[in-house]
Amino acid sequence: MRNIASSATLAVNAIAKEKKLRGQRVYNFAAGDPILQNHPYITARAIQQAEKGYAFYPPVEGIPDLRRLAAEWVNSTCGTTYEPGNVLVTCGGKYALFSVLYMLLDRGGEVLIPAPYWGSYPSIVTMCGGVPKIVVTSAQQGWKLSAEELAKHLTKDSRALIINNACNPTGVLYSKQEIDELLALAHDADLMVISDEVYSGLVYGSSSFASCGCSEAHRDRVCVIQSCSKNFGMTGWRVGFAFVPGAMMRELAAMQGQTTTGVSLISQWAAVGALENATAVNGYIKQAMERRRNLFVENFNSLFSQQIGTIESALYAFVPLAAMGVTDTVDSVSFCEQLITSANIALVPGAAFGVDGHVRFAFSEPEEEIIEAFKVLKPAVERLAHVV
Ligand code: PLP
Repeated sequence: MRNIASSATLAVNAIAKEKKLRGQRVYNFAAGDPILQNHPYITARAIQQAEKGYAFYPPVEGIPDLRRLAAEWVNSTCGTTYEPGNVLVTCGGKYALFSVLYMLLDRGGEVLIPAPYWGSYPSIVTMCGGVPKIVVTSAQQGWKLSAEELAKHLTKDSRALIINNACNPTGVLYSKQEIDELLALAHDADLMVISDEVYSGLVYGSSSFASCGCSEAHRDRVCVIQSCSKNFGMTGWRVGFAFVPGAMMRELAAMQGQTTTGVSLISQWAAVGALENATAVNGYIKQAMERRRNLFVENFNSLFSQQIGTIESALYAFVPLAAMGVTDTVDSVSFCEQLITSANIALVPGAAFGVDGHVRFAFSEPEEEIIEAFKVLKPAVERLAHVV
């Protein structure tokens, strides 16, 4: 456990929060938390449950209404054909990932992870007794892992592949064809595929989302990780889902029964409120996040000469330091440390995603916060000694 990195995102966020507590003005581009009032459908269901005056232990796998609604929601938005019996309700998508990996890695093995990756993947794999095998992609490859590239990194110990679609931190989306090619290779190499799709509902403009869970032919080797956190703006309620082949459910439920016991009943009913009205609640979050994305890109591109392109999904921009005129003599961790210390601007270093020389901006804060942050960003970056 000593080797497990604490989440870099949460660490920067913690410094930001501490500064705020000390009364300082902090500009938070670090947290991937869609800051927006909970939709009334969510709170109404939670209050209704709380007012019943009881909250006994929940069913370990999740309450039947929520499992059914979760299956209906992904089936209608992602084209999958899951039954309620394929759905495990978990404490956020993070615990869904942890429990699936814990089960798959009971005899160890390597897990292939394309970089840039969400910082928790390597740590969770290590905690579960596996070995993270990082495959670095590049901006030129569109930050995507191709089947051809994956094939070069397979070994006799390869056990699973994690793909994150829509991607944190790049916002990149895999096409159906790219997914089919990866799944076909996973089949040949006997890999389980863990498809983290927690941003599937935050896809902007004319871009479209393709789920790994769609392929009937590969259904038994795919686990889809989902969550109410981002798609429905419910990060603090801690409701996520593992969509798994039926044969995995008994063991996963046994594990959940011996660890968390399941998800708070009130949170599960709050999630029912969201999923009963999935189009409205997701639309409310997505529209707000799309406006914030547009504002972010406009502001960035008007300040800096190197432009950032379209961000298709999620809540982030993965930006080369060079785009802000920062020389390559400074690494992303030192840059972010200096920026938060000297100017109270919180960003996450690219190194936390396995790709240095970049930083991740989150555009999930309210629009007025984004506008204020941009007023201080450029002078702060220019003040740092490394700027050419
Ligand atoms: N997967 C990705 C790619 C994420 O960015 C996050 C959270 O930031 C999660 C999973 C976990 O989210 P939660 O546990 O809140 O559902």
